[in-house]
Amino acid sequence: MAIQWFPGHMNAARKKAAETMEITDLVIEVLDARLPGASSNPMVEELRLHRQRPCLKILNKSDLADPRVTDAWLDCFNGRSGVHAVAVSCRHPAEVARIPALCQKLVPHRTGPGKPARMMIMGIPNVGKSTLMNMLLKRRVAAVGDEPAVTKSQQRLYLDRRMVLTDTPGLLWPKIVYPDDGYMLAASHAVGVNALVEEEVAAFLGEILLNRYPDLVKARYKMPVDGLDGIALVEEIARKRGFKIRGGELDVEKGAHALLQDYRTGAIGRVSLETPDSRREMIGSFAES
Ligand code: GDP
Repeated sequence: MAIQWFPGHMNAARKKAAETMEITDLVIEVLDARLPGASSNPMVEELRLHRQRPCLKILNKSDLADPRVTDAWLDCFNGRSGVHAVAVSCRHPAEVARIPALCQKLVPHRTGPGKPARMMIMGIPNVGKSTLMNMLLKRRVAAVGDEPAVTKSQQRLYLDRRMVLTDTPGLLWPKIVYPDDGYMLAASHAVGVNALVEEEVAAFLGEILLNRYPDLVKARYKMPVDGLDGIALVEEIARKRGFKIRGGELDVEKGAHALLQDYRTGAIGRVSLETPDSRREMIGSFAES
């Protein structure tokens, strides 16, 4: 699948992030809780380890993710040195309100006026960085949008006298090494795709949903799903909803769009696209091929 990929942007992002890392005490990496592996960018780990900075991994959008899978990811991340991981939903302000105290705990040497904890927010587009920043700062400083890469320039903002935040908005593109990551990111709207590819992405998503959450799919579309594969599911959704193009043929494109929208908005239910085990397996089989 052809995904938009801009090496020039990536190099500029690396340079800027490396510079900011020098004057950063804590890295806040925002991930999509439904795909924590695919939505991470290895550059974050590489740069922060180089400077030995601690990292708070925020698995955001946890309201949309399967809670049991999110717990498995938290266990996995919390076993890593220098890393603390939490699951958060920006739909639940009380969860976001816990973040500042957590940050201070991770950099106990930076407290008080004149020595604020300097924090850098990193993350690929559409994981919720702007939403999170606005909530942490209790004011609107960053543009929020469901289209990838809405925010453009880097900002430094005081949370209070003890904490200052910098974001790297819109610069850190996902590094797509594994084809499955491209599909997961496209399904979650972290990268843009055209209509033709949308059908491919929907079929991929359908396959995962049928394997892991058949009951949720059955309940959402009020139809039997036994024996369906991803493509057949998209077709059945189009049939069930009466999506037709001129001449009476099924409008599969519209069926694909409906499935993707239902996943993105959580209408299907709380689902995760990958688990720590499925990711290990996927990487293993990619290495063998
Ligand atoms: P950014 O590109 O990383 O800055 O992402 P944005 O903050 O612009 O958010 C992208 C989209 O995700 C927006 O439509 C937000 O309203 C939505 N969003 C952000 N956080 C959450 C969350 O915790 N749960 C849900 N359901 N949606 C969220």
